[in-house]
Amino acid sequence: MNLECIRFFFIRKKMIFIGVALFVLTAVLALIFSYRQVIIEVDNQKVQYAYNGNKTVAEVLKANQITVKEEDIVKPARNEVLKDGSVINIDRAIPVRIFVEGEYREIYTTQKEVAKILEDANVVIEDHDIVKPALYASVNRGDNIHVTRVDEKFDTTEIVIKYEKIVKENNSLEEGQFKIVQKGVDGLKTIVEKATYHDGVEFNREVVDEKTLDPVDEIKEVGKRAKLVANRSSTNTPVKGRTITIEATGYCSCHKCCGPYDGSTTASGISPAEGRTVAASKNYSFGTKVYIPYFSNTFVVEDRGGAIQGNRIDIYFSSHQEALRFGRRTLEATIVN
Ligand SMILES: [Zn+2]
Repeated sequence: MNLECIRFFFIRKKMIFIGVALFVLTAVLALIFSYRQVIIEVDNQKVQYAYNGNKTVAEVLKANQITVKEEDIVKPARNEVLKDGSVINIDRAIPVRIFVEGEYREIYTTQKEVAKILEDANVVIEDHDIVKPALYASVNRGDNIHVTRVDEKFDTTEIVIKYEKIVKENNSLEEGQFKIVQKGVDGLKTIVEKATYHDGVEFNREVVDEKTLDPVDEIKEVGKRAKLVANRSSTNTPVKGRTITIEATGYCSCHKCCGPYDGSTTASGISPAEGRTVAASKNYSFGTKVYIPYFSNTFVVEDRGGAIQGNRIDIYFSSHQEALRFGRRTLEATIVN
């Protein structure tokens, strides 16, 4: 082996050495740069995990045998490739039961507040609804949320209060007659109740308003004055004679009724008497008996009057007031044979 050869040998060896060194260096560098260390935050624990190469979140979790539900929130997203020093955070969804409208359902949620959980579950809470635990409360695994639907309804009841009938005696009114001096009006009691329903079942009922419209009494005056009884037929046998329709009026012996003929005597010369004396036209001679069923009484024609014509009969009353009260009536009368 000559010197040339020896030199060549050494050069070649050196080159191989450099080549190997470079290769090793590259490999070591590659190893250093592909080294990853990540932290997994799950279930209140921190798990460290080291590996080489590129891995997604899902791959790292699988390698650590950490299973996640779809409802669990994983950050970063499952398909993201991790860098060295990355932190994977898993927010576990917890099961919560929601009781509403007679049904319940179990949901998995990462929300902590009742209000948010209900919102996620699309349960709309109305003004009066009762929610337990309260809307702002936090829930734990396995907790139940109860929603009671509360409805309010107002019921109005009307009760008619019948009016009273009051009867009073009236001495200036003839027996058997009456008059209503005050019309009766029914009263009305109005009650407003507030009914509260819990999930459609009546839970409470209270009177919130009550109004009473008082009734107005009916006041009836009944005649107390005894009917004219003079000359009453002694029997109840029908009176025989000609029945006519008369225009009956009342009069007394005052100046207003009789003008110049006022006084205490009738045209026939005898003193008038209530229940007996009537004035009729000359068609009926003095002494003619006239039975008037309205009075159940037989009168006697004893008087005349300028205006007493045809079938008009003027009935004598002892006072002007009573004559006026009688007024003018169309009555039946029988001219007794
Ligand atoms: Zn008179």
